[in-house]
Amino acid sequence: MSTAHSSPQASKSAATTALKLGDLMVREGLLTMDGLHKALAIQKQSDEYLPLGRVCVDLKLISKQELQRFLSKYQKHIQIGELLVNMGLITQTQVQKILEMQKASSKRFGALLVQSGFISESQLTNALSIQLDIPRMIPSLELMDQRLLEGIDEETLRFNEFIPVDRSGNQMTVIMSDPLNSNLMQQLVDRFKCKIIPAIATPSEILSTIAEFFGPRRKGPEEVSLDQDLMLKETEQDKTKEEVSSMARFLVRSAVEEGASALHVECQENYVRVRLRKDGVMVHKTDLPVRVGPALIEMLKTAFRLKGGKYWQETITTHVANRKVDLSISFFQGLWGENLVVHILYAPSRMLIFDNLGFSPVNLSKINSYLERSGGMIITSSPIRSGKSTLMYACLLTLNQLHRSVLSLENHVHYTMPGVIQHHYKGDDPEAHEALVEAMAEYDSDVLMVDDIPSPQSADSLNRAALMGKKVITSHHAADTTALIYALVNSGCEALLHSPVPILLISQRLLRRLCEKCKVPYSPSEAELTGMKVMAGDRGAYQFYTAKGCKDCQNQGYTGQTAIHELLEITDEIHNAVLQKKSSTSIREMARRDSNMISMIEDGVFKASAGLTSLEEVRRVSLIHDSDSKSARSIKQIYTLCTSK
Ligand SMILES: [Zn+2]
Repeated sequence: MSTAHSSPQASKSAATTALKLGDLMVREGLLTMDGLHKALAIQKQSDEYLPLGRVCVDLKLISKQELQRFLSKYQKHIQIGELLVNMGLITQTQVQKILEMQKASSKRFGALLVQSGFISESQLTNALSIQLDIPRMIPSLELMDQRLLEGIDEETLRFNEFIPVDRSGNQMTVIMSDPLNSNLMQQLVDRFKCKIIPAIATPSEILSTIAEFFGPRRKGPEEVSLDQDLMLKETEQDKTKEEVSSMARFLVRSAVEEGASALHVECQENYVRVRLRKDGVMVHKTDLPVRVGPALIEMLKTAFRLKGGKYWQETITTHVANRKVDLSISFFQGLWGENLVVHILYAPSRMLIFDNLGFSPVNLSKINSYLERSGGMIITSSPIRSGKSTLMYACLLTLNQLHRSVLSLENHVHYTMPGVIQHHYKGDDPEAHEALVEAMAEYDSDVLMVDDIPSPQSADSLNRAALMGKKVITSHHAADTTALIYALVNSGCEALLHSPVPILLISQRLLRRLCEKCKVPYSPSEAELTGMKVMAGDRGAYQFYTAKGCKDCQNQGYTGQTAIHELLEITDEIHNAVLQKKSSTSIREMARRDSNMISMIEDGVFKASAGLTSLEEVRRVSLIHDSDSKSARSIKQIYTLCTSK
């Protein structure tokens, strides 16, 4: 939580609450005094707020079942106010105000907090979900068994803010806005005559789903096709299949609609967690009843033609929500079952123009000068999900002109590019790959792109092509430009660095853009900037911003992405240093001193000073080199370097 902070007052009250809860557990004989002290010590060490109960479970001091029994017995003792203060969401003063208001109102603490505007509905719901360890479920008609709503009148649902979503044997999962409402729990047990498993959602999510179900847009029984009608009468197993395939379609569709790069389905002990990777970070989408997990994962695997548990690396190109996407999956066995990721790649967007890739003016003019001249080599180095393909395609797009012959060799063709001869290499035989690179070098071409250098032989072929005056664009895995030099030397591909042609190394990271609607001015401390190897003296002259969160950005504080870069030209001096096997640290120092190399983190500080992103986000994605402090620059120097052309 980016806005989280802890005041001495907050941690003091945390200790009081924890002791109370812990003392109760000791009194109940659940926990020994020693165990309690151990758990409190661990809780104190954690940066993020962790409920004491969860710490005890993690330490195996008590079982999850024991904790749940204990919490349901003593749930009145869990103080939501204390929890929210600890999470940095509200202040102690606000808690006092609400307690005052409560004296004259029958409303619950949480409802009053939201009404007073101290906290949003979704913040409150998320906090309750964490504290009570109750799954956070989105009450979507596509994700639930709608027949459970039959026979319950709209008013009852609206008044109590609940929706039954799943029934399996003698238990029913019910989404409610207030799982602490013991009255409602009893009513539900009486009504459904079974065990109730609570899940939580915000009141407005619940009310809008109820409205959708009873609203005019709902299909009447006469509109249901014969097939679906028959399906409902099928056996239990087939019912699950139909339900789960509608869930799978809904989840993939919403992931694409939200522009996510991956959909994660994770089997936990008591629920299935669905999360999306958006703009590089994981965002919770919904939880699902635990029983649907295996069926849902099986369904997705079948869709991707997985047979006998073998991952075929099948990529499906399809249209989802009117967008052309490539989908592929990967999975991993965990303690509670299989976990699965659906990777989503979008067809080329406006991102493919260099001006949209977020290069600073100085870097943009440098990369353009490398692209304009004939011949030369551009080697990119970036970890996965850092937009490497987009960057390489943008180079190709610039170079792809009628008067040039352009060849590319890719492990996966993300974008098809008219005019370029693209080869999709699927196998894993290094010799076959080397033969292809060699053939490309011999072919009468002007530009070669190979999306990874797999071996010294391929490096030699590319080197030969470069010597013949062809332009070579390739990539290698490394954290930044100086690490790239080290990685090339280490993997026997250093021939590339000895090529007597202009060589430019580029490293890139994607980072989130601050939401323009809610970003707030922020003054970094001296220590914060010094920690990033930047001189902090003139920080007062620049306006930085930090993330807050609003409706427009779904409380993330960020929307969309931009990139930061590090460019390094192989000069004669650097080439000599490579030949003399100098360390990458000393090569880095040399590049910063002699060629004004701008580090990735400095490029990030430049973008943060322009209000595009936050310093926090820059630190999240970049490597900090201690040696950069020797050549630390002031913000003004960084700004001047980045904006010069
Ligand atoms: Zn916002």
